[in-house]
Amino acid sequence: MITEASWLEPAAAGLLGLLIGSFLNVLVYRLPKMMERQWERECAELTGPAQAPAEQVFSLWAPRSRCPHCEAPIAWHHNIPVVSYVLLRGKCHHCHGHIRLRYPAVEMASACLFAFAGHRWGISLAGAAWCTFCAALLALALIDWDTTLLPDDIVLPLLWLGLISAQLQWTQVLLANALWGAVGGYLFLWSVYWLFKLATGKEGMGYGDFKLLACLGAWFGWQSLIPITLLSSIIGAMVGLALKMSGGLRPGNYIPFGPFLAGAGFVCMVFGADGVQQGLGL
Ligand SMILES: [Zn+2]
Repeated sequence: MITEASWLEPAAAGLLGLLIGSFLNVLVYRLPKMMERQWERECAELTGPAQAPAEQVFSLWAPRSRCPHCEAPIAWHHNIPVVSYVLLRGKCHHCHGHIRLRYPAVEMASACLFAFAGHRWGISLAGAAWCTFCAALLALALIDWDTTLLPDDIVLPLLWLGLISAQLQWTQVLLANALWGAVGGYLFLWSVYWLFKLATGKEGMGYGDFKLLACLGAWFGWQSLIPITLLSSIIGAMVGLALKMSGGLRPGNYIPFGPFLAGAGFVCMVFGADGVQQGLGL
């Protein structure tokens, strides 16, 4: 039976997800640039003040969002998640330049994930923790896809939140299993990395991937590590094949692994680690 409360919580969470999705679009674009500027500043400090780059305020909040084509600032009423994209028919209000479909797609994805969390855990601290999990994982997937970076600023708090959530029983995982999940997740991919490097002389993945699997281990327990790794490898191989056939591979044929780990994390959230394990026939 559909009662008022049964749709109210997912609807409220979904609405929040739309707004957070809009913020994630900004975060995904700006955080790697902010990191780059930070590295430049650190390098300039080492090489002397003469080469210090010009300081301009650039943060998550400033400057205001602008059209990438004509640089016109985007008014708030042209920046309403999904709605503005539809009303403006995917074009800038000033110059009619094309707005990427990815922006409303990220907002919709975030809304759906939040609505799911609202449905499963309700408006509660556990629900808030899982919404944070969704937002962080979505941001990591997109940043890794764009830049092959998995910023510690997101990964490490997500790992801590997974351990805290286990202790407070916001997840169905015992704290000990979450702890060994984090340790095992890191060590597992670290070993794969070194075996691959010793065998082929190449680097198959980055340290960010170890930390991200450690995160997922903290959220789903050590028992989930093999199903998650297997599932993300399968999705990754399929996407890689599709990109190869469509000629969409980037120079060097490098495909970041983080988005597929994140994808497996979402599947685990919906179906549980046990469900994934059964689905894979393990
Ligand atoms: Zn424009």
